[in-house]
Amino acid sequence: MAQVAITNVAKVFGTVKVLHEVSVDIADGQFVVLVGPSGCGKSTLLRMVAGLETVSGGTISIGDRIVNNLPPAKRDIAMVFQNYALYPHKTVEQNMAFALKLRGTDPAVVAERVKRAADILDLAPYLKRYPRQLSGGQRQRVAMGRAIVRDPQVFLFDEPLSNLDAKLRVQMRTEIKELHQRLKTTTIYVTHDQIEAMTMADKIVVMRDGRIEQVGAPLQLFDRPANLFVAGFIGSPA
Ligand code: ADP
Ligand code: MG
Repeated sequence: MAQVAITNVAKVFGTVKVLHEVSVDIADGQFVVLVGPSGCGKSTLLRMVAGLETVSGGTISIGDRIVNNLPPAKRDIAMVFQNYALYPHKTVEQNMAFALKLRGTDPAVVAERVKRAADILDLAPYLKRYPRQLSGGQRQRVAMGRAIVRDPQVFLFDEPLSNLDAKLRVQMRTEIKELHQRLKTTTIYVTHDQIEAMTMADKIVVMRDGRIEQVGAPLQLFDRPANLFVAGFIGSPA
């Protein structure tokens, strides 16, 4: 059974249909990348999985629950955004602990989860620092730390690297993949960058204009693109 099942999901904003009955199954532990040009509906789909947008049609399930009507906090997901806005007046430790504290998690559990995330992300030496005292890569890692401490069933990433310079982007790709190999958390990762998709995904979902053009493993799409759009998109330089 799919860990995340997106089944005939549609989205209408006002009178404009931006997603046309899309279906994607994501297996437990899989790293799935949604890729496609700007405006094709990637963020909207991800935000519906997160519970940040209502669903206009179809169903989304996580584990064995249909989550269409569940608020984000009840979905057992954690999301990392492009603009990962850390709290500037909180330390690294406080930034990572904040969401757990809000939920009333036992302080001993909070401390243990923060320590574990800091170890995984090599942030232990920086726990008492403030975001302004960190490099771009370290800030991105704190943003991931905030997701990890919640120990969710599913990670959702929306273009988490697009504000970083090219060199750091390549490094963070590797770090996110290593993180996934270590934690094996089911992941949906959105990007418009086909290189990112090709290097990170177990399975790629290529989208265009609110529809899915093809789903497959990176090499499958490269060797046997379903149409000229996929061939052009996957084959073109970043
Ligand atoms: P992507 O993430 O692939 O760039 P989005 O999911 O952000 O695309 O947007 C898909 C389409 O939906 C775009 O045409 C966008 O303008 C439209 N859209 C997104 N959010 C809203 C909204 N809140 N209200 C109206 N239209 C929206
Ligand atoms: Mg987007």
